[in-house]
Amino acid sequence: MRTAIPEATEEVAAAHLGLAEALAGVDERLLHDDPLLQLTAAIERVGMLVDSWRVRLAGEVGARSRRELGDDRLSAKKGCRNGVELLARTTLASERTITQRMRLGAATRARVALTGDTMPARFEQVAEGLRAGSLGYDSALAIVDTLDPIRGRVGDLNVELAETALVAAATGPTLESALPFAADEVRGQARVWENVLDEDGSIPAEERAMAARGISGGLTRDGLVHRKMALLPEVDAKFETLLNAYLSPRSKPTFNDADPDQPKDPRATAQARHDVFASLIDGAARSAAAPTMGGAAPTVLVSVRQADLAAGSGAGFIEGCEAPISLRAVEQFVCAGGQQHVLIDGDGRLVSLSSTDRVFNAQQRRAISLRDGGCIIPGCSIPAAWSEIHHVIAYRDGGETEVCNGVLLCWFHHRTIETSGWRILMIDGVPHVKPPPWLRNGRTDAETPWRRSTKSRTQLADLLERQRERQPVLVE
Ligand SMILES: [Zn+2]
Repeated sequence: MRTAIPEATEEVAAAHLGLAEALAGVDERLLHDDPLLQLTAAIERVGMLVDSWRVRLAGEVGARSRRELGDDRLSAKKGCRNGVELLARTTLASERTITQRMRLGAATRARVALTGDTMPARFEQVAEGLRAGSLGYDSALAIVDTLDPIRGRVGDLNVELAETALVAAATGPTLESALPFAADEVRGQARVWENVLDEDGSIPAEERAMAARGISGGLTRDGLVHRKMALLPEVDAKFETLLNAYLSPRSKPTFNDADPDQPKDPRATAQARHDVFASLIDGAARSAAAPTMGGAAPTVLVSVRQADLAAGSGAGFIEGCEAPISLRAVEQFVCAGGQQHVLIDGDGRLVSLSSTDRVFNAQQRRAISLRDGGCIIPGCSIPAAWSEIHHVIAYRDGGETEVCNGVLLCWFHHRTIETSGWRILMIDGVPHVKPPPWLRNGRTDAETPWRRSTKSRTQLADLLERQRERQPVLVE
């Protein structure tokens, strides 16, 4: 070993201190344009050096933590599941960042042959560029991530050819460009190489798509869970058809803009598609064919503090989901799925547990589905099987879990029933609705009649029949 490790660590610490001192007096807001850009470039060079070492060290820790070393692997000796966890604990960086560094580290690390000889790295030129500080982290990752997956199909020589060209472009100048390519240009160029080398690929496109299909785990950002979906075209086509089939009729010409039977949908198309998807998930989860978990139907467990629920503020939490959910969402879960009171004292002891009896049972759901036929809000086309049952009078206000107090609402109309202005009234057990003020065509609340609302086709046929009896059609 050329340098004793503690010595190198000490020197790096001293350099870090020197760098911090050099920057201590700098106020970037006071710099003129050119010095600002010069400092930016100088700092970037320090960053590139640091990045290249981050990659090298991550590669080394990864190699020492590889699974085949068993109990001797470094991660196990330090009490971690794997190298990623060990590095995340050491650096406090995210596992995603660590995984990237380790991937790049493994691809640019010198290999040892079975004979004990040292062999060049899988991406030797990328490794050299990183070591020299001429190739940036993002560019290196773009090259490795694009070319490594096709190596098996196009062969080492072709990958090397592309690697040479890409490293040259990223560290510039080249014949094509007087300046080095930025990381995004390198990634674009790498894709071009990928297409050229792997033109028809030895694996048929269909098989590749099959291997690449997937729905990623969710990443929570700004109160939303973001997932990436790579759907096979035929699956996507069905998905698309389903979403479109149940989108509310929009921009249909009507005689009267305020006709409550053709209300305009205030949602953006993407939002409406989300809400159709929400109803679709509800329907699938409720379906008798859905696999049961431990005997019960698939259940989402939401917890909320009693005080928050009573006050209508704060947040609830779904078991296994990082993002908190709004109180409105909790109330929707309570209305459609029931609740169970769990009293836990200050020491964390379970004091009491209520039973869940506020969920409409299967027979009640069938009866309500027959009566309502789907979400009862006019203009909405979500079918009964995908709708939730809403307590017209809330349980906390004395409303019962009976068919005369339950109506079908889709996920969106259920979520927004308190705020949308739509009102629901049961008159002799029959659901009636009144549109929000902006749909009343200038009429006051008193002038706006309650209208009976059903989507059931048998009910509608019956209504028409009776209307015809009252006003016989004259046939000449
Ligand atoms: Zn609806």
